[in-house]
Parts: sequence; structure tokens; C-alpha cells
Amino acid sequence: MQVKNRQKQDIANPQNDPAIAAVMDRYAVSLTDTVLAAMDPQNPQDPVARQYLPAAAELVNTPEELDDPIGDEAHSPVKGIVHRYPDRVLLKPVHVCAVYCRFCFRREKVGPGSEALSAEELATALDYIRNAPNVWEVILTGGDPFVLSPRRLAEIMAALNAIPHVEVIRFHTRVPIAAPDRVTAEMIAALASDKAVYVVVHANHAQELTAAVKECLRRFVAAGMPLLSQSTLLRGVNDNPQALENLFRALTAIKVKPYYLHHPDLAPGTSHFRLPIAEGQALLRSLQGRVSGIALPRYMLDIPGGHGKVPVEPRWIEPAVDGNGYKLRDYRGGTHTYEIKKPKDV
Ligand SMILES: *Cc1c(COP(=O)(O)O)cnc(C)c1O
Ligand code: SF4
Repeated sequence: MQVKNRQKQDIANPQNDPAIAAVMDRYAVSLTDTVLAAMDPQNPQDPVARQYLPAAAELVNTPEELDDPIGDEAHSPVKGIVHRYPDRVLLKPVHVCAVYCRFCFRREKVGPGSEALSAEELATALDYIRNAPNVWEVILTGGDPFVLSPRRLAEIMAALNAIPHVEVIRFHTRVPIAAPDRVTAEMIAALASDKAVYVVVHANHAQELTAAVKECLRRFVAAGMPLLSQSTLLRGVNDNPQALENLFRALTAIKVKPYYLHHPDLAPGTSHFRLPIAEGQALLRSLQGRVSGIALPRYMLDIPGGHGKVPVEPRWIEPAVDGNGYKLRDYRGGTHTYEIKKPKDV
């Protein structure tokens, strides 16, 4: 349920600050009752409030920031499709979301004014997939595909279910975190398929996993849909080992496998959320060994310019100086050798 507009204005800009008003003119703002219940809007350091409440720092643009930070446009053969990797495509039926994250990598594209694909454009996008036999997986994203009605989701599912080479259907969504009441029995039924249907939820802090959110996620598990999570590493939200550990443990304990921890993209007006990659690597290094392997995501960077995502994890192995094997670092910081002996040494 969307919070009434008037009330939302007051929460987003309680002092009627002109800088915040300028941010709200430039970028979409939306809050739901669920995210409001998960945050303390009076506390500017609150890890949930920081994700959704506009900040004057969003007016700052740094030279490295890009309107299309991950180069989607270069790989869009038809409207609504991004085909960057050989075996999978993104399908973006809508550009609206239940909430608007202040650090969003598609912030130049998403918002209430942004159109959805028309019926014809969606048909063209589905034709593209039908005619691309190497497309093994379709990833629905946006915007947020779960803002679509169950009827429209069922239409898209029916089309994808009928394409034999599509074996996996994946949804990337923040709806279970931001608007869990949207996940009705009708919506779950609309996602039913003989193919594998994965749901990747976007969550950045354990505080977002309220009772209503957990209950919503259980409905996907009960329907047999594997759940994964993606998180963004954000200054002032989760940039410390304890916050990350709590988040990944909480997700794993409710049957959500942490999949990716994204280094923040170079989206305009987001420099206050970004931290050096070396700092992200140090955080990941501190979690290795201390937290169960099934709770640890990969640390990923989407290379600007459309070159795809790569892991940017800390390194644990390097060639030994004498060339005979490797030097390894253990999770406590000790170093060890993995020797490869030459035949004459044996
Ligand atoms: C992120 C992304 C994917 C999915 O990548 P995985 O590594 O499979 O999660 C696919 N296509 C595009 C264009 C993407 O940006
Ligand atoms: S839900 Fe996703 S697409 Fe929508 S604003 Fe947040 S990060 Fe961006």
C-alpha cells in the first residue's frame, strides 16, 4: 500500500528544505507503509531511512558518474530487452517500482512518469526471445516486475513457458521487501511454471526483514521457488562487517541464499554511498571463514560501458616468489605455501 502523497512529502522533506525539494523534482521518491515501519525517519543515520529518504548530497555529481552506468543501452536490440551475455537476457516490462532507492543504478530511467512497454513492444520483445535459440534464461527486471498485476504476469509467464529454449525464468525484485502485501496468492499462482523460476530479492540491511517481509518470502518458498538475494554495498547502510554478517545470516536463515553483493554503480548523485573497492574487499575478507560459506555472496562490479559483471573479491592466492607453487592466505590472516615440487627435489 502506497503512503498518501501529502504524508509522504512531509516525511521525505519535513523541514521543507529547498535542496530536498530540488532532489524530489529531479528523482522519484516513493515510500510504502512497510519501509516506513522498518525505519526511524527521525534518525538520519538509520540504515533503512538512508536508502529511501532523499538527501541533498544527491545534487552532487562527480566526474566519473554516468547516466547509463552499466552501459545497458549499447546492448538493447529491441525496446525492453538487454542482451549482453550469450545465454541470458534482461526483459524490462516496466520502469516503475514500489519504492525508489536513492542509490539506484537505473535512477535516470525509473520513476512514476516512465512508461511500461506497450502491448506491441512487449510482443516484439517476446518475439526477440523466441527467435534467439541461445537464450536459456530470461531475467525480468525493470523497474520492478512485481508491480505488474497477476494477470499481466501470467501473460508474460505463458509466453515464456511456451518457448522451449528458455529453461530458467528469473525475477529481480524489491517488492517482497518494500510492499509484501502485493504478493498475493493470485500473484504466486501467476508465476507457476514447469520451468525453474528463481526470485532474487534486493535487501541491504537485516532491519528490512520485518515479520511481514519474512511471511511474504515464505510464500515463495512454499510455492517451490528458490530465493536468492542481491545487496548493494552502501556507505552508511551496511559498510561494516557486523551489518553484512547480520544481513547474510538473516537472509540465509529464512531460506534466501545471498547471491551478489554489488559494488555501487557510478549512478549520478550517488557518491555519498560509494566506498573504495579496496574497502569492500577488506569487508569481504573479514567475513570469509567467520560466516558460513552458504551465507556469503560474491562481491561484484558491473564494468562501466556495458562489459558485464565480474567478481572483485579479495585474493587469497598468489604465485610463490620462487615460482614453485602458491602463497595462500588463511581466513585469520596467516600465510601458507602450497608447494609444487620439481621432480629433482622428490
Ligand atoms: C546483471 C545482468 C545479468 C545477470 O547476470 P548474472 O551474473 O547471471 O546474475 C544479465 N544480463 C544483464 C544485461 C545484466 O546486467
Ligand atoms: S527497486 Fe531496484 S530499480 Fe527500483 S529504485 Fe530500487 S534499485 Fe532501482
